[in-house]
Amino acid sequence: MTSYWCASAWLPDGPVDSVRVTVDDVSGTFASVTAGQAAQSGDERLDGLVFPGFADVHSHAFHRALRGRTHDATGSFWTWRDQMYRVASGLDPDSYRRLATAAYAELVLAGVTCVGEFHYLHHPPGGGRYDDPNAMAHALRDAADAAGLRLTLLDACYLRGGLSNVGGTLPLDEVQRRFADADVDAWADRVALLRPTVTSRVGVAVHSLRAVPAEAVPRIVAAADGRPLHVHVSEQPAENLQVQAAYGGTPVEVLGASGALGPATVAVHATHLTEGDIATLARSGAGVCLCPTTERDLADGIGPAGALHAAGVPLTLGSDQHAVVDLFEEARGVEMHERLATGRRGHFAGSSLVAMMTAAGHRALGWPEAGRVEVGALDDLVAVRTDSVRTAGARPDQLVLAAAAADVHTVVSAGGVVVRDSRHVLGDVGRLLAAAIAP
Ligand SMILES: [Zn+2]
Repeated sequence: MTSYWCASAWLPDGPVDSVRVTVDDVSGTFASVTAGQAAQSGDERLDGLVFPGFADVHSHAFHRALRGRTHDATGSFWTWRDQMYRVASGLDPDSYRRLATAAYAELVLAGVTCVGEFHYLHHPPGGGRYDDPNAMAHALRDAADAAGLRLTLLDACYLRGGLSNVGGTLPLDEVQRRFADADVDAWADRVALLRPTVTSRVGVAVHSLRAVPAEAVPRIVAAADGRPLHVHVSEQPAENLQVQAAYGGTPVEVLGASGALGPATVAVHATHLTEGDIATLARSGAGVCLCPTTERDLADGIGPAGALHAAGVPLTLGSDQHAVVDLFEEARGVEMHERLATGRRGHFAGSSLVAMMTAAGHRALGWPEAGRVEVGALDDLVAVRTDSVRTAGARPDQLVLAAAAADVHTVVSAGGVVVRDSRHVLGDVGRLLAAAIAP
């Protein structure tokens, strides 16, 4: 039986000193969690503060290739998207596996033990199909296994090029053709071929109401069949304008009328919402995934995190475009952006931010048994230095407001130690990233 001794651990009620945990190696779950206990011989010692595994609820792995390459002009979201399309057009299953393996290894170094991959890079350039129609999805699954984290593959339906500002529909352009299936039934047939594994689960996604007609949404809800259903919602004011012109309602209203809102639904971004949208999301039980470092990088705006939280909408976090990979920074961004928007401090307690990073995130990805250090939960652990230049002197309950991804020193994920002394078992992740991005 594997056992760990934590100098301090974040248990369901907050940080507690001297916690010994044992793991049932067959089921990969915590067999015992005992506070106030001395280390025993054979325990692996985890110094600092040990958190449950972090969940990155919204990832597009291939966007990692854009980091540090999109800042040389006064580019908007839409010019950034053009650069992203250029990267998308160059990937095949092998190069995607290499890039995603390196990108996921970076996530693991930052303490992420479960990632929600919002996957729409389905087909060969220009359209058509690979011999295995899910070759790109399987590349992502292999990458997650190699990097040592759990995966929820959110297979996104993508059917058209977009909406015009006056309500018309845009055809797929050359790059977008590889995102698209022939129609929603062809999408559903392909998704039906995807199977869960021990370390990966399958969910679905509506790319957005820009890329998916409202009439197709009920078929996607049926295909979800209770599994996670994620959708980009109201990231940019232009999207609201276009959806209003096409359907006479906000994206949240149109999704609600299409039956897409429920407890398994996650609205990603939800930056530009009306008060009615917030009430609708709260009534439906849907959650919201905030991606603060992406939303500020793309100048999307500041989402209504405080109002959503007050309405009881579960909040989670995503690295989205991987311009920053640091769940502490995402969590802090939620509180700090709310301070800038309101002129007041203190909207989210440290425990609320940790819940976004851990238990709530895992629930949103369809892993409700993960994200907590308690008996029966999956045995993921993230040990964070409390003596670094950033964290020295911080109170444990406020560490989330001081720590960075670089303070993660040990990660236990999907059944093993994958990071020790801040080194990933795959070796130098910077080199892996450089080699994968260079082409
Ligand atoms: Zn996204």
